[in-house]
Amino acid sequence: MFDMNEKSEHIHPVFDSILGRQDKEVLLNQHAKVIWMTGLSGSGKTTIAVALERALNEQGFLTQVLDGDNVRVGINNNLGFSEEDRTENIRRIAEVSKLFLNCGIITINCFVSPTIEIRANAKKIIGADNFLEVFVNTPIEICEKRDVKGLYKKARAGEIKNFTGIDAPFEAPQNPNIYIITDELTVEEAATQILEYIIPLITRK
Ligand code: ADP
Repeated sequence: MFDMNEKSEHIHPVFDSILGRQDKEVLLNQHAKVIWMTGLSGSGKTTIAVALERALNEQGFLTQVLDGDNVRVGINNNLGFSEEDRTENIRRIAEVSKLFLNCGIITINCFVSPTIEIRANAKKIIGADNFLEVFVNTPIEICEKRDVKGLYKKARAGEIKNFTGIDAPFEAPQNPNIYIITDELTVEEAATQILEYIIPLITRK
C-alpha cells in the first residue's frame, strides 16, 4: 500500500514548465470550455451532443465528446453505480475534462451526474469559469417510453439496482446555464440553443 503523504512527496508536477492553455487556445483560435450535460438516461444528452459537436466542427471549433458509456468501458471500467463509485466516476471524468481544457479543446460531457453534490465536485475540479451546466430536462415517462437501451425495463424488473429515476434519485440543477426541454424541441433546435449560448464564449476576439 502507498502512504499518500510519502507518495505525494515524490511527485513533481511540471505544469508550470509545459506549454500553457493560452498558447494552445491561440493555436486553435478558440476559448476552451466544458459543456456539462446532465439529465436522466435517455433524456437526449448524447444525441444533442453529437448534433452540437457537428455544428461546432463545421464552424471550425475543435471539440471532444465524453460519454458515459464510452468512459465506463474504458478509463472507468472498474467502477459500478454505488454512491462511492458514481462519485469516483465523475471525479475522474472531471480530471480528464481538465486535461482537454488545458489543451484548449471544447469538451462536451454527457453524464447522468444525478446529484447536486456530484456536479458541484465536477465544477470545483474543472473551475467555475470553465464549466457550463446544461440541464437536459425530459420527463421520466418519456425517457422510459423511449427506453433506448432497454435499461428502464431492466430497472423496473429489478435486474438493475440504483437506476437513476427509478430507485436512485435525480436532483435537478437549480441554476443551469442552459435549460433544454426535449419534448418541446427537436434535436437540432436543442443543439442550436446551446450553440447560440456558447459561441460568444468560445470565440476569440
Ligand atoms: P442520453 O445520452 O441522455 O442517455 P440518448 O441521446 O442516448 O440519451 O437517447 C435519447 C433518445 O431520445 C434518442 O433515441 C433520440 O433519438 C431520442 N429523442 C427524441 N427526441 C429527442 C430530442 N428532442 N432531443 C434529444 N433526443 C431525442
